[in-house]
Amino acid sequence: MSSMLAVGSVAFDTLHMPHGRYVRVLGGAATYASIAASFFGPVQLVAVVGKDFPAEARELLRSRAVDLEGLEVADGLTFHWAGEYSADLNSRTTLQTDLNVFADFHPKIPEAWRSTRYVMLANIDPELQLEVLNQIKKPEFVIADTMNFWISSKLAELKKVLQRIDLLVINEEEARQLSGTYAMAKVARELLSMGPKSVVIKRGEYGALWFDHQDVFSAPAYPLEEVRDPTGAGDTFAGGLLGYVALKGNVENATLRRAIVYGSALASFCVEAVGLERLLTVNKGELLERFSRFHKLAHFASENEVR
Ligand code: AMP
Repeated sequence: MSSMLAVGSVAFDTLHMPHGRYVRVLGGAATYASIAASFFGPVQLVAVVGKDFPAEARELLRSRAVDLEGLEVADGLTFHWAGEYSADLNSRTTLQTDLNVFADFHPKIPEAWRSTRYVMLANIDPELQLEVLNQIKKPEFVIADTMNFWISSKLAELKKVLQRIDLLVINEEEARQLSGTYAMAKVARELLSMGPKSVVIKRGEYGALWFDHQDVFSAPAYPLEEVRDPTGAGDTFAGGLLGYVALKGNVENATLRRAIVYGSALASFCVEAVGLERLLTVNKGELLERFSRFHKLAHFASENEVR
């Protein structure tokens, strides 16, 4: 089992949901990713928080085998994000982004972590993603996320990141924006031509598509009766995926397919409650059970099997 490293935001989120308002709950892309990955093994977290970051939140992360040596505490307040969801929870508007200590953040990877083989660059400024890559010695598998804001404001830097990563994890709308095209197979081909060895296109309640130059894999989303809060589902997906890859220690096609389904299973738990609430109560037995439900959900016999 290898460790994996996650770099990104640790935040307080204020969530305006149709069912209520949740003020300053623990969130952030790197937080969701770390908690998800911790189901499979140890996680090294690199992020920044302010002096207001509570001891209980540190304890919570530590209790999940998330190593906080790379969690910088800076003068000022922790990053705060507020968003409002539509009634069907399918779209959201950012109401507020208070960068606070994140504004001057330059990730410093602790010396002992520079040879970590599995690295997740959560959605942050591509310039910072490059700073991380410049500190890591010989990563075996790097995955990166990004968003519309960076695609429009830092495209040149983002393209440099894409040249240096193994897997791009991106949502459907942003994949179309970055590729400038619409049909998913074409979108994927365009994205692959920018450098990553493979790409996952996240399609929310419709699941995820993975492409490399030879192959394509489709993972469904789990059909839930109720979704409470989609915040962090994408980061949970990516963290879970990489955590499983780090546990297996290889990036073969079969491993990646299973990793994508584990990521999807964890994301399906994430959306069942507000913030991290549900992810923090899932046990390994429930995760395995949902994994096998995914297997059943997507399985059908080939003509050879029924003969
Ligand atoms: P997701 O729902 O996967 O897009 O991720 C939501 C998480 O991303 C929230 O917990 C936010 O704290 C965090 N977040 C929102 N905006 C930003 C940003 N500009 N940079 C870094 N993290 C962000």
